[in-house]
Amino acid sequence: MPTREIYWNIDHHTLLYAVFVFALAIFSYGMYRRARLWFSGQKEETFGQISRRLLFTLRNVVSHRGILRETRPGIIHALMFFGFTALFIGTCLVAIQVHLGWPILYGNFYLYYSLSLDVFGALFVGGILLAAVRRYLFEQKFLRNTRDDAVILGLLFSILLTGFMVEGARIAVTSPPWSEYSPVGYIFSKLLVAALSKSQGTQTCTAAAISTLHRTIWWIHMMLAMGFIAYIPYSKLLHLFTAPLNIFLHSTRPKGALKPLALEDVEAKTLETRVFGVLSPKDFTWKQLLDVDACMRCGRCDSQCPATLAEKPLKPQKIILDIRSQMEADTQGRLPGGKISDAEIWACTTCRACVEHCPVNIEHLQKIIDLRRGPGLMEGKYPAEITRAIKNIQFQKNPYGLGNEQREDWMQGLDIKRLSASDGAILFWVGCAGAFDNRNRQTTRAFVRLLKEMKIDFCVLGREEMCCGDPLRRVGNEMDFQQLVKQNIAVFKKYNVKDIVTCCPHCFNTLKNEYPQFRGNFNVLHHTELISKNGNRIKDLLNKKTRATLSDKTITYHDPCYLGRHNDVYEGPRELLCLLPDTELREMERSRDRSFCCGGGGGHMWMEQRLGKNINEMRTDQALETGADIIATACPYCLTMLSNALKAKDREDVKVLDIVEVLAGG
Ligand code: SF4
Ligand code: SF4
Repeated sequence: MPTREIYWNIDHHTLLYAVFVFALAIFSYGMYRRARLWFSGQKEETFGQISRRLLFTLRNVVSHRGILRETRPGIIHALMFFGFTALFIGTCLVAIQVHLGWPILYGNFYLYYSLSLDVFGALFVGGILLAAVRRYLFEQKFLRNTRDDAVILGLLFSILLTGFMVEGARIAVTSPPWSEYSPVGYIFSKLLVAALSKSQGTQTCTAAAISTLHRTIWWIHMMLAMGFIAYIPYSKLLHLFTAPLNIFLHSTRPKGALKPLALEDVEAKTLETRVFGVLSPKDFTWKQLLDVDACMRCGRCDSQCPATLAEKPLKPQKIILDIRSQMEADTQGRLPGGKISDAEIWACTTCRACVEHCPVNIEHLQKIIDLRRGPGLMEGKYPAEITRAIKNIQFQKNPYGLGNEQREDWMQGLDIKRLSASDGAILFWVGCAGAFDNRNRQTTRAFVRLLKEMKIDFCVLGREEMCCGDPLRRVGNEMDFQQLVKQNIAVFKKYNVKDIVTCCPHCFNTLKNEYPQFRGNFNVLHHTELISKNGNRIKDLLNKKTRATLSDKTITYHDPCYLGRHNDVYEGPRELLCLLPDTELREMERSRDRSFCCGGGGGHMWMEQRLGKNINEMRTDQALETGADIIATACPYCLTMLSNALKAKDREDVKVLDIVEVLAGG
């Protein structure tokens, strides 16, 4: 019956167990040290929904969904991962047979086992070679090569090579009739015999010589494998454990919601231990510290980060690795303004591209906000323009610093209802940009006209509306944010508000995803969603006027980060644009979840761009490359940033319009 003798030709194999215990001890010590570092962090919310999480992790790991988003590196990783998994399972089966005495590796099962392991082993080797070629022969802008990478690739390659040599030597001596079920081992057996014969200057070599070689390589193979086990916690290989664990413990908050700071919990601490936000690694939660240990330095976050691509000081991967190295050096060491510079922390536009593209669910954005919260809340440290914007919100309830009495100026000449308690109309949340910024007032008025034409019953809060709090939260001022949210919720409850629509994705995201953290649960729609829901009515409205003014125009759509990546609203706006007759919708190279930020989020609407290139101009160049006559978008910040860039480029022949303006005929 087809099988093979385990430990064939190996004397004193029990010695291996001693080495294994030693390797396991080094491994366990390393894991213990990592776990001790993680648990130096703060407590974390509890993790329920175990079976849902298990399924999610299994689906992610098995499908390699996140990894395969980048096709070439994804395939290389898949070859290595599935090769490794198959060989690991194969080794476990051997161990079960030897130690539990279960007769597993016999007959047909053995033949398929042998064949599968050879095939997966060969694919694994292929993956290693491709990874080495990619790393060392082609310049990879976002991939850092360290000694660790070379050691890992070398170690894996050596383990596989010696494994095939051991198999080849065994086949050469025992010549089993089923050796074709070990195709790679069979080839190695021929190569070994040829090589040995040549070295001995004879036509054939003796079985004794091959047996000796087999024994030697077997021990080398085993020592390398034990070295591999011991090396895991001290190298990038740690992600074999931390990556699936991190995926399992992924946040279940809506994508666009930042974690609320539990102000009461922090206030309950003693003065010495009280820290709002993060000043050093110990101020992160243990889950956030585990997060940084899951990074496998793939560079995908950097490759998508607009700040990195605009040559600003920020690289999201570096933020993660800096937190890790500070955690290893001293969990009490200073992070913001220390290991991580203020320039890095404030270069982030909160676009969420890094989080979206990280295959192991690392949350860069939450950490960057925590690093803003620390110096902001503990030391009052914000960039000067941000301090001004915060003061404006504190005193005028809007970041523009304009008197609140001007909040209704855009309404002149339009007959608009104010909200009253008995009214069941949908609340149109205008937002500060829509109410105070001259260009965005045009969008607001266009939307109101459209609502009226569509006969949708709506009303506004007028001067009772305040900033939704998004700018405060994104710059790290959680205290003022929470205060403002509670005030807004009180107003909504006073008027029994149930449905809200807004043109601003920042307001939309905060009202929809973050207000529920403070018991403010409302049905919130972005204006594109409300229009889509009334699809038939809008079709009727796309009348001759639209046809005449937009006919033969080419439109490109810029996905606002807070609508797209933060809320997965990608198709609705496009479907609306496709309703326009005689127009062509042309996609930019970076669109949907790969969309490039306009540069206005995360407080940057109020900050000068002093370092690197201008993100808004880069995005405008991408839009201009499509040859479009109109850049359509659905966000007041994007509208402002892209309009400014067109002005700077002297390309005002191209229009930037909100979708409602496009639907109204430009
Ligand atoms: S959120 Fe955007 S800008 Fe900030 S680090 Fe991530 S990719 Fe870069
Ligand atoms: S943080 Fe995520 S995307 Fe960035 S390098 Fe690490 S694993 Fe890759």
